Amino acid sequence: MSATAATDASRGKSALPEVLLRPGREKSLLRRHPWVFSGAVAAAPDLPPGEPVAVRASDGRLLATGFLSPASQLRVRVLSFDESTPADLSLVRRRVEAAAALRAPLWDAQRRSAMRLVHGESDGLPGFVADRYGPVICVQLLCAGFQRLRDAIGPMLLDLFPDVSAVIERPDAKALAREGLPPRQEAELLAARPGADTAAIRRVLVNFGGSRRLVDTFCGQKTGTYLDQAENQIAVGALASGRDVLDVFCCDGGFTLACLRGGAKSVLSVDSSAPALEALAENLALNGLDGDARCETTRADAFEFLRKLRDSRRSFDLIVLDPPKLAETKVRAEKACRAYKDLNLLCFKLLRPGGLLATFSCSGAVDPALFRAVVAEAACDAGRDAKTIRFFSQSPDHPVALSFPEGLYLKGLLCAV
Ligand code: SAH
Repeated sequence: MSATAATDASRGKSALPEVLLRPGREKSLLRRHPWVFSGAVAAAPDLPPGEPVAVRASDGRLLATGFLSPASQLRVRVLSFDESTPADLSLVRRRVEAAAALRAPLWDAQRRSAMRLVHGESDGLPGFVADRYGPVICVQLLCAGFQRLRDAIGPMLLDLFPDVSAVIERPDAKALAREGLPPRQEAELLAARPGADTAAIRRVLVNFGGSRRLVDTFCGQKTGTYLDQAENQIAVGALASGRDVLDVFCCDGGFTLACLRGGAKSVLSVDSSAPALEALAENLALNGLDGDARCETTRADAFEFLRKLRDSRRSFDLIVLDPPKLAETKVRAEKACRAYKDLNLLCFKLLRPGGLLATFSCSGAVDPALFRAVVAEAACDAGRDAKTIRFFSQSPDHPVALSFPEGLYLKGLLCAV
């Protein structure tokens, strides 16, 4: 098709209801960024949440297709920049197939049988997250468009993945509220193969981060557990030999297990969640590490616990600091940075000379440069000369589309003092 013909076609009537942009607000879409904010919209059709729409620039060009979220600041999530491709189940299916193909080289039943299958925008599916734990896929449907397709998504995934026996939804109450949808929190079975063993679906044995892990697909944090640290757990575990380790915000123990397996002299692990620590105990047993005298776990608030350790003059050779998302939005980034600084400062004080701090932030609103600056200030205030010897990021099953830098949320530094 000639350029003129393409332009003519894209000025024609779309088969879909159309969202019209204000003048000048098409720029981000032209850069293939998949979000249309409410402030960019001049007119939108009156449709139920999640309906497919086309997006038209003020000069008449059709730019994209996506899902309408009438109640959300993110008014349209774009699935395709080809205006003739409607945002429907067959497009979602093709995108999931592409996402699975991208990850095929990473999958290895012996070493890596849990991974993120779909990472939202970066896999061309804004608001759709799918994590695979062996024979189970846990999804989060974070926008109205995917909620509208909810009943079809389970069967579609079973059809695509013959070795998957169940699909579970782990609703995110905050995301549903932002979409103006009724809040739900409880996990729900979306689809299962006939005769699937329901107990086996709930508690799945997998391998990742260098260890065997039991994942509670209905109640574990997020979609069951955190997969984004898998590679970093292996990297940190390889540094643990002969060291006294402190694992702060240990959750179900990915770093703790890796460090014990890596030959740590001792590991002290802290988290405020009782279920997370129960999961950690189960994971220790699964890896033949139950009753290992090197490992001590504590249920406590990390901010208070670090102060107690400081006051009792404890010290460590390797500290892992992996807090939850402290900044939900850019507006909260400043307050979050004070918390990151507090935590990092305490950890720098607890490090012995020659010690290592693996420090992380999973707040997308705190970018890598800001995080580095906060950690640098913390080291300075702790009176430590620290250097970064490694930069960490999220595991490669969490890709970042070049057009969507927001997809990069996990960053970390390995600092030596
Ligand atoms: N390091 C883990 C992931 C940590 S997620 C991994 O590699 O998989 C963040 C953890 O912080 C969660 O387990 C949560 O229970 C815990 N948490 C949240 N607030 C806390 C607090 N104030 N003190 C201690 N733990 C906390």
